[in-house]
Amino acid sequence: MRAQVLEAFNQPYTFTSSHPTPRTPQGHDVLIRVKAASYCHTDAVFASGQMQQGLPRIGSHEFSGTVEALGPEAEKVAQTKGIKKGDLVGVPGRAYGPCGDCAECTDNGGDLEGYGVWCPRAGNLGLTKDGGFQEFCLADVRQVARVPEQGELRAVEVAPLMCAGVTIWNALETAAQDIKSPSGDAGVDGKYVAIIGAGGGLGHLGVQFAAKLGWKVVAVDTTPAMEMLNEVISDLGEDGKQVTVVNALSDSVDAVKRKIFGEAASGREGEVGVDAVLILPESQAAFDFGMGVLKNHGTCVAVSFPKDGWRFKPGDLVFRHIRLVGVLTGRNHQLQAMVDFAAKNNVRAKIRTYPLEQLNRLVEDYHKGVGGKLVVDMDLEE
Ligand SMILES: [Zn+2]
Ligand SMILES: [Zn+2]
Repeated sequence: MRAQVLEAFNQPYTFTSSHPTPRTPQGHDVLIRVKAASYCHTDAVFASGQMQQGLPRIGSHEFSGTVEALGPEAEKVAQTKGIKKGDLVGVPGRAYGPCGDCAECTDNGGDLEGYGVWCPRAGNLGLTKDGGFQEFCLADVRQVARVPEQGELRAVEVAPLMCAGVTIWNALETAAQDIKSPSGDAGVDGKYVAIIGAGGGLGHLGVQFAAKLGWKVVAVDTTPAMEMLNEVISDLGEDGKQVTVVNALSDSVDAVKRKIFGEAASGREGEVGVDAVLILPESQAAFDFGMGVLKNHGTCVAVSFPKDGWRFKPGDLVFRHIRLVGVLTGRNHQLQAMVDFAAKNNVRAKIRTYPLEQLNRLVEDYHKGVGGKLVVDMDLEE
């Protein structure tokens, strides 16, 4: 079968048309006929050798495809999840074959019994096990997401939701935790979330999810991302009115707060600002901007993880009582809720597609900073 294999760090992928097909599905295995596979920042980090994981490896931990075959234990789980042979499913990297015993697997926040997406003993497709840049891939039936028939999500649109989509969804749910009223009716309506890095791969999905979930959105980025950001907001139609775009190169934190909330009364400056902020870029400037626009008692959700860390002011946590939390992907039930919501509410990543043979051109475009999500479409001819 066709596959793109990373044989050495800091080298291009090697294309082959004679890679062995995966073994017959066993246990909870589901064999996926890959339809689309998306490129994530973590693929670039992996390819640079920073993660010190083994080679050769077939990358992509956010992909989609149809169910080709099921292992003996997978049949029943597939039924429970409403999945059958031939169905289109979304496949995230986590988690292949979790142990079922550890704290992640036993206290799993409502996922299937014994299944923990963060199980330290599980495989991570595209990173510790082969991922989506190949014609067929083995996954764990418990990790996949059903794609609803209604909503017309295409395979190339499902793939980027499997890492970028679920991560930003989890970040928004985390941001809402301190806000939602106990009864849940009020939700986040009228509350403000700032998304720093709103024009990037995660950010532009986050702007759409947030606006459609009822948040008022402050979409912050710098000049190169403005064009795509404005396109996303115009596609949102009526919901686009919930979004204020901020160019962090020209607007200061204070100017943004004044523009949105007006002048703060003397001594009450801490009451003025957004309720939550999501930090997507790795830069200190992005982090400082995010902390700056938060009001006191707000929540800062870190999604990126700069190699050299961030400096934060302990006073922001202690005196302003800001809650600083991080997220990594999300649980399987969050993944499913996110896909269902995206299908129903027309949330779509801006994508550019490439045939599998052109994966190295995709990677070049990625490093040039081409906007949107870059996706291999297995049906595209070279
Ligand atoms: Zn990823
Ligand atoms: Zn485990």
